[in-house]
Amino acid sequence: MPLSADENFSQPLTKLKGVGPSLAEKFGRLHIHRCIDLLFHLPHRYEDRTRITPIAHLFPHHPAVIQGKIISCEVALGRKRSLLCRIKDNSGIIGLRFYYFTTAQKNQFAPGKDIRCYGEVRQGSTGLEIYHPEYELGENSIQALPQTLTPIYPATEGLTQQRITKVVAQVLTQFKQNATLILPDYLPTKICQQYQLPSLKDALLYLHEPPPDAKLDQIAEKQHPCQQRLAFEELISHSLSLLNLRQQLRHHPAPPLCDQVSVTPKFLQQLAFTLTGAQQRVWREISQDLTQEAPMLRLVQGDVGSGKTVIAALAALRAIENGYQAAIMAPTEILAEQHFITFSDWLEPLNIKLSWLSGKTKGKARQQALENLKSGDTQLLIGTHALFQDDVIFSKLGIIIIDEQHRFGVHQRLTLKQKSESGALSCHQLVMTATPIPRSLAMCAYGELDNSIIDELPPGRTPVKTIVLPDSRREEVIERIRQACTNKKQIYWVCTLIEESEQLQCQAAEKSAEELMLAIPNANIALIHGRLNSQDKANIMARFKAGEVDLLVATTVIEVGVNVPNASLMVIENPERLGLAQLHQLRGRVGRGAIESFCLLLYHPPLSAQSKARLKVMRESNDGFVVAEEDLALRGPGELLGTRQTGDIAFRIADLQCHVDLIEHAQLVANTLHAKADESVIDALIKRWLPQGEQYAQV
Ligand code: ADP
Ligand code: MG
Repeated sequence: MPLSADENFSQPLTKLKGVGPSLAEKFGRLHIHRCIDLLFHLPHRYEDRTRITPIAHLFPHHPAVIQGKIISCEVALGRKRSLLCRIKDNSGIIGLRFYYFTTAQKNQFAPGKDIRCYGEVRQGSTGLEIYHPEYELGENSIQALPQTLTPIYPATEGLTQQRITKVVAQVLTQFKQNATLILPDYLPTKICQQYQLPSLKDALLYLHEPPPDAKLDQIAEKQHPCQQRLAFEELISHSLSLLNLRQQLRHHPAPPLCDQVSVTPKFLQQLAFTLTGAQQRVWREISQDLTQEAPMLRLVQGDVGSGKTVIAALAALRAIENGYQAAIMAPTEILAEQHFITFSDWLEPLNIKLSWLSGKTKGKARQQALENLKSGDTQLLIGTHALFQDDVIFSKLGIIIIDEQHRFGVHQRLTLKQKSESGALSCHQLVMTATPIPRSLAMCAYGELDNSIIDELPPGRTPVKTIVLPDSRREEVIERIRQACTNKKQIYWVCTLIEESEQLQCQAAEKSAEELMLAIPNANIALIHGRLNSQDKANIMARFKAGEVDLLVATTVIEVGVNVPNASLMVIENPERLGLAQLHQLRGRVGRGAIESFCLLLYHPPLSAQSKARLKVMRESNDGFVVAEEDLALRGPGELLGTRQTGDIAFRIADLQCHVDLIEHAQLVANTLHAKADESVIDALIKRWLPQGEQYAQV
């Protein structure tokens, strides 16, 4: 492979010697497609083969290189036949044991021969032994000891360590000769100096071949400056791609939506409450954005119950009073329905025409909904991701509001964006998250958005008391529910997911409902789960809201958006199955009124250390921002954003837990680079780090 430029190293692996399509396919499983990907495929651990350990200094469970002479070799007939070869150096004797061996191998181990081997020492039946060591025989063929630690790379089925090492070595050799051509260092030296980080070349070479005295602990914790150097560049590139996305989104003008002083005052007047200070501030921020020609791209964060819905309503109303349509998208049918009910209550008195669309809207109803939308009759469309479908055409879409609940990723936002672009104007976008997300994550996942935070709960809320109990105390809990029913309190009983199976979850809920009906015959008990049709679900929710149902047994379908202020007790069965964000979200269904509320977490022992930690966080904090930070620390970013499957923000090297400190700095550097608008550098960085994420840039 000629080595002229960066470009060449972006070529597929098959350009390398000895790499055919089938081997390339195996590397593909490790997300290695291009030659440069190999450079970024870092070892996950190292072996120290740089020195020989005298046999007398060996101890069990430690790997070591030893060198000596063979003194005997025989087949041992124990429980399992094995070959035992004993070797001796100046300090002692050790056995090498092979359970799988060939006669040829046996014959190789002639007494008197020199041997060097590497393996983990263990206590065997003849004293210290090494099982199946790697070895080299004979004076002449024993090579010099390596000067650096031996890298062990993440591997995959059918791809041996040896194979990977060989291919990586090929690339490394070329890289050493020609580093700046292969991988130009785009980070200004000044920045590396400022953060005391090594150059790209030094960082990569160090991590592939660290010196014997490398601080392996530091590397294991991903805190080595060389790792930070790479993580930093990756985070910068990621930020740059989001800045690019933002720039491109903002490039298409949107309709300026000014305060028409017509419907909004009426809406605010008829509301049963006045906006909190935080709501007013966030609404001002949004309102200001909307008057601009550049489309608004804003994220609204607020704890469960902080009142994001009314903000969405105000934003939608602003579009509508300017003669544009608004769309609100929720992640689940039940939440979309809740929104539809709330918005109908609020907006129908103002003569605004709302319409509903979900995946389950079929036939005539769907046809009608689409026609009304296209003709402009419908002013506000509410629904699930069905709003994304191709045949959903707006007449004049002014704003799209996404109630995100950690379920939509970057991809879905993009599709939506493309849709609005098909019109003459692009539209404003408001993203709302159900629960707060940690700052570092927000930057990485929503870096293209401006951020508004509702950091205040409406007045008159009493914090929920959370109690953690083992399920051996179920009887007591049921007794408590009985009392609550007698006192006209309303209760949720939530059954959690079993093995991702909705069917099993529903069965569990049915079983609990039956049990509770027997135990508390006087109570009005209803059951709601995801397998009911929307009409039934809506009816049950309406009855619960109206106080006709005392106890609602539910699956996690009620996780989001359900609002029944009189409900003051929630029992969650097997809370250990849920993540913190989800538990917090569920708990947010109570504590919505002035009565003191309780959340009973009825766990099934024994708890893992992590579950224990999670339930402790729940007991100790009611603050969604705290819960989110803890969730990040406990579970990592993928789980938290729900993007683990889609890999939306899967980093190669950066780790949002270990490199939190770098994120903010990376953003600053990205902003500087972006402001300088050196597009060749920006493009090269994005291509280097986000080859599959190029779609960010293309929209
Ligand atoms: P979330 O932020 O979780 O979406 P909601 O918008 O559903 O919260 O609001 C939770 C509840 O608080 C709703 O019943 C809503 O009507 C009420 N609410 C919102 N803002 C205020 C306020 N400023 N004063 C009193 N109640 C409010
Ligand atoms: Mg909400």
